[in-house]
Amino acid sequence: MGNRLLEVTGLRKSFGATEVLKGVDLHVDEGETVAVLGRSGSGKSTLLRCVNCLELPTGGSITLDGELIGFERHRGGARRLTERRIAVQRRRMGMVFQNFHLFPNWTVLRNVTEAPRRNRGLSRPDAERLGMELLDRVGLADRAASYPRQLSGGQQQRVSIARALAMEPRLLLFDEPTSALDPANVEEVTSVMRDLAGAGATMIVVTHEMEFARRAASRVVVMDDGLVVEDGPTGSVFGNTRSAFMRRFLQQPD
Ligand code: ADP
Ligand code: MG
Repeated sequence: MGNRLLEVTGLRKSFGATEVLKGVDLHVDEGETVAVLGRSGSGKSTLLRCVNCLELPTGGSITLDGELIGFERHRGGARRLTERRIAVQRRRMGMVFQNFHLFPNWTVLRNVTEAPRRNRGLSRPDAERLGMELLDRVGLADRAASYPRQLSGGQQQRVSIARALAMEPRLLLFDEPTSALDPANVEEVTSVMRDLAGAGATMIVVTHEMEFARRAASRVVVMDDGLVVEDGPTGSVFGNTRSAFMRRFLQQPD
């Protein structure tokens, strides 16, 4: 495995009086695929949203490639970066959401090319060449001119994966990418994700797909009530039948 890419240390997040993350430690090395499992409400989405600067943490720190995310050191403490600088940091991460979040009025190709045109300064022909390569990679080159509503859920999710890849991110974040899909569409999406993992992408995948986690993840992290309660190589976490929590969790993930 490669260098340490992401380091989350003592991460805390409260919404009002409710503490949702209670001191999360998590690290991801370059090239790793980390599956994050845990019951609904355990804080998985909040963790990804803090990493991607969609939520402002209340404590702890996040670094990507050694660089503090969302904050800068200031007079012995830390202060929030400007929105502009946060936007630049966010471009190093690609996020895939449960509900795709594609723009309905744009073609598939434009959904993929807009960010690299705006944020990487690619010309339209260059962005479209890249967009077609990525659509080909997720098996949708023939749907470039379609609109999202003309695609199945699985196809839309593959477009959103291509869109995330278009920024050539250091880190890919997936938040339950198959939870909104019909069972028949799950495999086409997890298969694209397995290919990415095999090609050396660095990914954090929040998922209930145990089969995907077993086959594609190098490490498995389990969250419960705002904390990481298990963290280890996939085989040893799934094989950890000594933990009463894991026994219960593996039988009934929700
Ligand atoms: P998971 O993704 O593991 O299901 P979440 O991170 O979405 O968990 O949520 C963890 C807890 O935080 C839940 O109790 C949820 O209700 C609460 N929560 C999440 N987002 C907010 C918010 N914006 N405001 C208030 N509470 C929130
Ligand atoms: Mg969630």
